[in-house]
Amino acid sequence: MENLNQHPAIQDKVVVISGASSGIGEAIARHLAKKGAKVVLGARRTDKLEGILKDIESEGGKAAIFALDVTNLNNFREFVSFAEQTFGSIDVLVNNAGVMPLSMINAYKTDEWNQMIDVNIKGVLNGIASALPVFEKKDSGQFINITSVGDRWVGPTSTVYSATKFAVRAISDGLRQEVSHKIRVTIVAPGATESELSNSISDPELKKMADEQFRSNTIPAEAIARAVAFAIEQPEDVDVNELVVRPTAQKAY
Ligand code: NDP
Repeated sequence: MENLNQHPAIQDKVVVISGASSGIGEAIARHLAKKGAKVVLGARRTDKLEGILKDIESEGGKAAIFALDVTNLNNFREFVSFAEQTFGSIDVLVNNAGVMPLSMINAYKTDEWNQMIDVNIKGVLNGIASALPVFEKKDSGQFINITSVGDRWVGPTSTVYSATKFAVRAISDGLRQEVSHKIRVTIVAPGATESELSNSISDPELKKMADEQFRSNTIPAEAIARAVAFAIEQPEDVDVNELVVRPTAQKAY
């Protein structure tokens, strides 16, 4: 029977997704697999990846999983090579892995600042360094970098987190200008979305406040997955540069 979810521009594309063990990355993997993509999921929690793989395969989708720490360049290169060996090539890299341990600067959580810089910025750069040689060789490909509304907004406690997302926006804009006219670079900037992200906030009071004030209205992670699919589905000569996707009730930040 014809699968009505499948889309010709996504069908059989090999999509490599970092941070696919929960939240937005998991939703992207599940959604694109339904649309006929071959998805390669990377994250540290391989037990979670195994469960998602089973689900995708039981629904007839094609997927593979890999133990990935985005802060390790060699590991990221191996992830991309694994995807090429498994499915023949790669067409899209979704740089999604991220952490958000919010805190005031004068709490001096310097280890958490470094963790955000390592995962949210260096992790994306490691992804670019791993996939760009493949894309340049075949002169096609697409980077989709999951930033945040914090890539253009900063407020108390989000200073370092927003700085990492501002950086990814700058990196994406620069990358788009430096690569061939046939390589696409997309930013998808989510607002408050259902996921495990606030678990990385180490201050319990702050986590409670973030969950109650900022995260009381969330959209399902599937909403971000649909935005990612939209960017992939466009004809190859159309590069969706930026999509900001927030809950309707979230008017700013
Ligand atoms: P989750 O915490 O649910 O998912 C984060 C993912 O990143 C997990 O799969 C985690 O996997 C992975 N990850 C973290 N560190 C590493 C690492 N060192 N190496 C590999 N993977 C890692 O949160 P979200 O789904 O919300 O987050 C996804 C992205 O969306 C992030 O970039 C986040 O900043 C962004 N975002 C989310 C918003 C929201 O409201 N949810 C709003 C704006 C942006 P594991 O721990 O298994 O390695």
